[in-house]
Amino acid sequence: MGDHHTGQRDLFEHRPEWEEDDVRQGTVATVVLPDGVDKPLDYLVPERLVGTVEPGRRVTVPLGRANREQIAYCVAIRSGELPLAPLKEVIGVEDPAPLLSPRMLELTKWMAERWLARWGEVLEAVLPSGVRLARGTRQEALLVASGTAPARRPTAPQARVLAAAATPTTAAELARVAECGRSVISRLVETGLLIDAGTRQREPGRAAARAPLPHHRPSELSPAQQGALDAILAPLRERRHETILLFGVTGSGKTEVYLRAVEETLAQGRQAIILVPEISLTPQTCDRFRSRFGTVAVLHSHLTAVERHAEWREIASGRVGVVVGARSAVFAPTPRLGLIVIDEEHETSFKQATAPRYHARDVAEWIARSAGIPLVLGSATPSLETFARCLDGSWRMCRLPDRVGGSQLPAVITVDLRDAQSRARGALSPRLVAGIKWALASGGQVMLLLNRRGFATHVQCRACGHSARCNQCDLALTLHQPGNRGICHGCGLITRLPADCPECRAPQLSQRGTGTQKLEEQVRTLFPGVRVARMDTDTMRTRGSHERTLDAFRARELDILVGTQMIAKGLDFPDVMLVGVVNADAALHLADFRAAERTCQLVTQVAGRSGRGALGGRVVVQTSTPEHPAIRSAGRHDYEAFVRHELPIREALLYPPYGSVVRFVVRSHREEAAAAWAGTLTDRLRAAVAAGGEGMRVLGPAPAPIARLRDRFRWHLQVHGPDGERLRALVLQATAGLRTPDDVAWIIDVDPVEML
Ligand code: ADP
Ligand code: ZN
Repeated sequence: MGDHHTGQRDLFEHRPEWEEDDVRQGTVATVVLPDGVDKPLDYLVPERLVGTVEPGRRVTVPLGRANREQIAYCVAIRSGELPLAPLKEVIGVEDPAPLLSPRMLELTKWMAERWLARWGEVLEAVLPSGVRLARGTRQEALLVASGTAPARRPTAPQARVLAAAATPTTAAELARVAECGRSVISRLVETGLLIDAGTRQREPGRAAARAPLPHHRPSELSPAQQGALDAILAPLRERRHETILLFGVTGSGKTEVYLRAVEETLAQGRQAIILVPEISLTPQTCDRFRSRFGTVAVLHSHLTAVERHAEWREIASGRVGVVVGARSAVFAPTPRLGLIVIDEEHETSFKQATAPRYHARDVAEWIARSAGIPLVLGSATPSLETFARCLDGSWRMCRLPDRVGGSQLPAVITVDLRDAQSRARGALSPRLVAGIKWALASGGQVMLLLNRRGFATHVQCRACGHSARCNQCDLALTLHQPGNRGICHGCGLITRLPADCPECRAPQLSQRGTGTQKLEEQVRTLFPGVRVARMDTDTMRTRGSHERTLDAFRARELDILVGTQMIAKGLDFPDVMLVGVVNADAALHLADFRAAERTCQLVTQVAGRSGRGALGGRVVVQTSTPEHPAIRSAGRHDYEAFVRHELPIREALLYPPYGSVVRFVVRSHREEAAAAWAGTLTDRLRAAVAAGGEGMRVLGPAPAPIARLRDRFRWHLQVHGPDGERLRALVLQATAGLRTPDDVAWIIDVDPVEML
């Protein structure tokens, strides 16, 4: 930024005298660079570009002393008196139509402030790369007529453009041939009649993917469902904003309520966005939307840039009424948005793990508020943030306490792993084995949750205690079979594990801690002839593997499904009679203030998978801390009891939802450099807090729980405070003008969901 302004001053000093008091009129564009310079910059719009340079389009501008050409987002335009200092001129316009609506520009600016990100990086993040890459840096993309029948008769200039675009042609060429302005072309792009030539090939494929499926629509809603639906329809019809939480156990009919609310939204001629944690884990939810509505844009992570771009245009044209997708689908360019739904709103995947580290729930609320539409959240285990907003009256909570069809929640049996007897048979206690036998003998299916993949979670020498660790991360290697491979779950590095201890040469390295692989093996040994499958990130690497395994389980081609938390999500299997939680404490003691919340959510969620059908069901929870409130509440299907226990703790410590946390993570190849920079940040923050950060405190610096990852040492620190806005202002002030040493990288995470 410095060199840009220096450049301007040079010009200013060489200005002729006579210009001094001559006030000039003109148009100025404010632009934001995607990277590098953080501050918005002003440029003069030359006469030839007035009308085409507009907010939401990208432009090329000269930057710095060398006037390097750079693409930047135009975020504002104003006409009138020009500033005295002469401005550099915009060189050209990149996009035939705005990529971002005025609302999206405002949203991205807010996001940058809310999560301490650069506006430019937020702008890049909300646009799929296919949309941004639609045009080369300087060369124009080719447009082609999509062949879709226009909703209205095209005007005479539109008809000329469409005729000229029978073969791929640049926008400039189309404007010349059809003798019309660029705005005519922009309009045709917006309505989808003109498309990027690169996206045309796949059009027929999509139509097939969208063929409606047969579907079941219950004729009557339960009273609880009707109550929840009415609570949504009121703001939907009155066109006002309200946030409504559906707090209901799995199977209580939440999805059916979303479907009805979407029906009404479509009937009003408006669009709905449904966010789900991860498409591949929620195929049933997507199928239900597809089968009910036919044309549904499903934005999943397997789409190519071109496919995503094509979906984006379909949505922007208004032809697609329903958008289902993960986190980033919240940015879908819906011109007539009427409803946003977030299913499983407690899931941490709604927070982005890379910059900008936004949370889709907060983004959705901003959009819903600005558009004057309802936001619907659903969960059997709402986040404490959401729960607190309901308790303080900002949001409305609708309870759906019972399963549709009246099936009872399964009885939960807790097995205390501290009792030696219960550990007699490897990972499966005699109680759990008896439960599995009972379920199988009764004709039911079984799900076993173990949140650790691999065979053994670490490998240790019996003689000297040495344990095998990744040589570039501070993490124990997980043993994977076959092949005796030690895999680092931090960086993925694979090492062949030796037979003897590399430290003391003792011949026996022993395998400690059961992973899903070993569990699967134990299950196969204990229950010969029973059909078993495993579901974790190791077995689910290829596209469609989740669907195949889940379909096989649903079709009863499998008896037992072993897996990580993946098996706990959004699945409805009526024949599951036993759910076993092999180690409920696996994540309870992590250095994360949300560890108890996560554990309670996971155990409650997976427990809700049992006994959905007429046969009833049981849950067996193995734990070393049966008295822990997270485990005890989950065992009683009483998530709310946990919430009421946990909220006062959060309040006392000023953790979210009663305060805000900003976490800093510093990385370096040299441990001293990471520690020193964490120390510098801490000193700056402490000084700022002392000078007026009332109620705020700084924790750290300390090595992060994962102290080394991919050969970089990691240190972290946190600052807490009762008020998020004031806390962020303090962080900005304390870190302003810092010059980061060359061998250090650091990030700021506002309200983190990941503390490792
Ligand atoms: P949730 O989203 O809370 O898990 P669902 O909406 O998936 O619950 O409902 C669970 C099951 O009950 C689904 O198979 C659904 O089709 C069915 N269902 C939902 N509402 C009704 C209703 N009012 N009458 C009959 N069946 C229903
Ligand atoms: Zn590693």
